[in-house]
Amino acid sequence: MTTITPQPGIMDIALYQGGASHIEGVSNVVKLSSNENPFGPSDAAREAFRKTVYDLHRYPSTDHRALREAIGEVHGVDPGRVICGVGSDEIIAFLCQAYSGPGDEVIHTEHGFAMYRISALANGATPVEVPERERVTDVDAILAACTDRTKLVFIANPNNPTGTMIGDGELARLAANLPGHVLLVLDGAYAEYVEGYDGGAALVDGRDNVVMTRTFSKMYGLGGLRVGWGYGPRHVIDVLNRIRGPFNLSQPALVTAEAAVRDRAWTQKCRSENTRMRAWLAEALAEHGVVSDTSTANFILARFASADQAEACDEHLKSEGLIVRRVGGYNLPHCLRITVGDEAGCRRVAHAVGQFMGTRREGP
Ligand SMILES: *Cc1c(COP(=O)(O)O)cnc(C)c1O
Repeated sequence: MTTITPQPGIMDIALYQGGASHIEGVSNVVKLSSNENPFGPSDAAREAFRKTVYDLHRYPSTDHRALREAIGEVHGVDPGRVICGVGSDEIIAFLCQAYSGPGDEVIHTEHGFAMYRISALANGATPVEVPERERVTDVDAILAACTDRTKLVFIANPNNPTGTMIGDGELARLAANLPGHVLLVLDGAYAEYVEGYDGGAALVDGRDNVVMTRTFSKMYGLGGLRVGWGYGPRHVIDVLNRIRGPFNLSQPALVTAEAAVRDRAWTQKCRSENTRMRAWLAEALAEHGVVSDTSTANFILARFASADQAEACDEHLKSEGLIVRRVGGYNLPHCLRITVGDEAGCRRVAHAVGQFMGTRREGP
């Protein structure tokens, strides 16, 4: 018998449930469960990736300079305070590793992204769940939950899976009123979907207790490649770079992400297409009696009368080849999260929900 045991906290982690991608015995499946860009990456990004095949014997850049400079140009941030990671998940993991441990508390909201809790536990810290107000981040509840042991506050803005967000004024009020020993992390995974929103970059620039995380997995259509980045005050970025592996990002990932971020026309097209189809889908669902909060992201949180109804609708959608996301693990058992697909995908899911609810509606 061995007495080999992992560090405290690790066995409290429930394995992350990814969005399903296959249905047994069903072809022509539409995957609307992982908030992926239905159009994939831009042609420029695809072409950049293709060319990397000739350099696979070379080690990648360790300082990610070219990608950081491209991010700086496009997003109007200081490239010297950008750090790139294997998805924004890695930036979240670095933050928890660097700033929290046993005895410390890490705040996330009631329907917050699962990785905050997982990363806190992985480092022996205690995740603290704070209520939201009708599925919207509640700044006063977060401030009230802070203690001497709080080290990090994570909020996603827009939030996943609710799709709601809070405004710049509320973000600034939160940052300004946190105790001095607390770092605020603004997860901007869906910031690109919000016209005119900087993801919190200006707030980062104006303070020394705010970090922003961003990703190439959503709008840029590169979830399979695993690239994310963080932007923060110099003292934080310096700390995170000390624990970052020197070759954490592969050369194909770096080069492809750079081409993707520079293709502003593609970003603009994907944003406007998402806005158009999101409005159509929300209205179609509402006409079938399925309500949702106004979404600011690339998915809709559809609310049903009960958990049983949500589950039954999910089963019906599956039988029609449509994969959406159950969100019982996010304290929302009566909801289904539906990614805004392309027009055909949106029509199919709206039609199938209509069949399930016993109502009908014409297409866009
Ligand atoms: C999808 C998502 C991410 C992105 O994670 P990556 O590791 O960059 O793929 C981060 N935060 C939230 C809230 C998300 O929904």
